[in-house]
Amino acid sequence: MPRTSVSQTRPDVLASLSAIDVARPADLILRQLRHLIATETLRPGDRIPAERDLARQFGVGRSHVRDALRRLEFYGILKTQPQSGTVVASLGGVALTSLIGNVIALDRDDIAAILETRVILEIETARLAAERASREDRQAIAQAQQAFRAKALTGDPALQEDLALHLAIAHAAHNAVLASLVGMIAPDVMRHHGEQRTCTRSRLDAVIDEHQTICAAIASRNPTDAAAAMGLHAQMARKQYERQRALNVVPVEGRNTARAQQGRRTRKRTR
Ligand SMILES: [Zn+2]
Repeated sequence: MPRTSVSQTRPDVLASLSAIDVARPADLILRQLRHLIATETLRPGDRIPAERDLARQFGVGRSHVRDALRRLEFYGILKTQPQSGTVVASLGGVALTSLIGNVIALDRDDIAAILETRVILEIETARLAAERASREDRQAIAQAQQAFRAKALTGDPALQEDLALHLAIAHAAHNAVLASLVGMIAPDVMRHHGEQRTCTRSRLDAVIDEHQTICAAIASRNPTDAAAAMGLHAQMARKQYERQRALNVVPVEGRNTARAQQGRRTRKRTR
């Protein structure tokens, strides 16, 4: 049968393509620093060059360098000292290089463990926030939720706003250690959601409601409800991740949403 004169791309052609796994700049930076430590160019106690110098040398934005250094500090590979700046920790070179290997592997493959840890951390964070939030804290939480809701209603995953809300809740718990742990884990969770595009339109609507329930419980100083609502939110996020992983496909809804958001975010991720 002869073809029609105007040839159109069938929608299933694009649908059967999936995102390419490109190594993130921060991972590449970590690999280079690991090499310097393995070859003893960098030794325990040595000072790390300034962030802007590293960014220039690597030819990447400072945020990537910051991301890499933040992860190294979190795992105790780098230490920041008031007098001497950021230095390599006093661990053996072998311990350091294997630790950096763990950091890269963890970030790549162990998102399930991160999500599991998040559930544990954030339930208690929400409970404490309901007990301890000041008036200012509650205002900050309400504003963060409003900003998230406004953007999410347009179909945008609003990952930065989601993150800001979780950090506002963590801040309201008035436990600096807990807040910094949430601050370490939450960006990884959000980035994962962005990379995997786990946020379908229906999931986004559910997230708006889940956030609302958490915020309402904190506002009415109800620790039990706040903990339960945060637990549900974190579990739903985890389930979504498991579903996506089982399917190993980009959700159709998410793809359409992303496209509707014009082509402005080609690989730029906000969550
Ligand atoms: Zn959230």
